[in-house]
This record gives sequence, C-alpha cells and structure tokens, in this order.
Amino acid sequence: MSRSHVIVVVGGGASGTLAAVHLLHCARARGVPLHVVLIDRDGRHGLGQAYSTPDPHHLLNTRAERMSALEHDPHHFVKWTRSQGLNPAGAAAGRLRVLRGHVDGATPDSAGLTLSVSTAGSSHDLRVAWLVNATGPAFTVPGEGLLSRLLADGLARPGPLGLGLDADGRGRVLDAAGRPDERIVTLGPTLRGKLYETTAIPEIRAQAATLAAYLIERIERH
Ligand SMILES: Cc1cc2nc3c(=O)[nH]c(=O)nc-3n(C[C@H](O)[C@H](O)[C@H](O)COP(=O)(O)OP(=O)(O)OC[C@H]3O[C@@H](n4cnc5c(N)ncnc54)[C@H](O)[C@@H]3O)c2cc1C
Repeated sequence: MSRSHVIVVVGGGASGTLAAVHLLHCARARGVPLHVVLIDRDGRHGLGQAYSTPDPHHLLNTRAERMSALEHDPHHFVKWTRSQGLNPAGAAAGRLRVLRGHVDGATPDSAGLTLSVSTAGSSHDLRVAWLVNATGPAFTVPGEGLLSRLLADGLARPGPLGLGLDADGRGRVLDAAGRPDERIVTLGPTLRGKLYETTAIPEIRAQAATLAAYLIERIERH
C-alpha cells in the first residue's frame, strides 16, 4: 500500500483528540500510511469545552491515571504534562493537521463523503472516505449543525430516548433505517442515549481505541 489515507475528525475536544491519537497509534503499529485532519469550529484542539478553562482553581475531578489517553499506560497523562504541554501538531510529526473551521454537513456518494467546511470568511468542500464525528454533548434535535444535517438526510438516526446518535458497538453511526454506515463513526457524549456512561476519559479512550482498530482494518482491506 503506497497511498496515504486521510481520516477527518470533526470536533477537537477530548473525544476528537483521543480518536486522532488512537488512529495514529494504530496506523503506525500496523504500518498503514495515515493522515488525520482534526477540525474544530472554536479552535480548541485538545481542550474542548471541559479543558478550556484558564482558571487555575479549576481542578480535575478524577485521579491522574484515569486521564491517560492510553489505557495500557496509566502514567502517560502525568508524563505528558511534565514534558511539553499541548502541542498536537508537533506530537504527531506531520501526520496530524489541525484546522479551525465549522463542518456544516456531509454529502455521501459511492466513494465516500463530501464535507462542507466554513472557515473565516470562506467555505469549501473536503472529500473524505471516513468521518469521525466527535462534536460533543451540545446537541439538540431539531437544531443547527452537522448532526442535524446527518439526521435530516437520513445518514443518522437519534439514539434511544432521542438523546444523541444511534450507533453500533464499533461506533458506526446507524442510518435512518438502522443500518450501520461504513463511512461515519462517532464517540463520546454523542452516544449518551445508547451508553449513558460516555462522558469521562476512560470511556472515551476505550471507544477511541475500538473505532481506530475498526477504521485501520477497513483501510487495510480497502
Ligand atoms: C467542566 C467539566 C469538567 C470535567 N472534568 C472531567 C474530569 O476531571 N475527568 C473526566 O474523565 N471527565 C471530565 N469531564 C467529562 C469529559 O472530559 C467530557 O465529557 C469531554 O471533555 C467531552 O469531550 P468532547 O470532545 O466529546 O466534547 P467537547 O469538549 O464539547 O468538544 C466538542 C468540540 O467539537 C466542536 N464542534 C462541534 N460541532 C462542530 C462542527 N460542526 N464543526 C467543527 N467543530 C465542531 C466544538 O467546538 C467542541 O470544541 C468534564 C466535563 C466538564 C464539562
């Protein structure tokens, strides 16, 4: 395999960042050439809503080992805070691109998806084969934004009790007919109607590992 593959992750908070980390780790371990584009409308890559506070009195409410991005390395978070601070672009040595932009919708075709992305003062289309939706808990139906477009177009259906999105155990989003979509996966608080306990780092990193293994396997078979 010589061609480099690109996966777009929408939402740069904890869920999107953990998805990017696990995708790049998994790709490297399997020798798969992969680039990840991490898009966040607020430019809060690696932070998201929970970890954007500039107030030093805001503390984590859990043990440091539970904050590790990698379950098999519980000291990873502490080592990371001591070593460098947040530098997602540098950490992935060119395999991770971070963009500030709002993903407004996704149009499917036989080869993948076309995302419409608005950046400061302009909008453009982005062709992707796979999309990771990590847009967080701020989601109501009906409402504005990417999830509402996915629902309106029948590419997704609401999760149980109308909370979040419906998906299978690999994170594949279920379409309006209940079929898993091969191109769109999700993780984190968007799965709260399905999993309920899906907001803390240990749950999200496990979901990130599962969907990364699934997507890298798909790429290998592609
Ligand atoms: C105050 C607070 C403290 C917490 N403390 C802990 C803790 O100590 N330990 C723990 O384990 N968990 C903690 N949690 C829970 C957990 O960390 C969060 O649930 C987690 O941060 C969720 O991350 P997320 O990426 O899914 O969502 P978010 O952080 O909301 O990130 C989603 C991102 O997606 C972007 N976005 C949305 N739509 C689009 C779009 N269409 N295009 C582009 N970008 C888009 C948004 O701008 C946002 O940055 C805490 C949560 C909160 C709120």
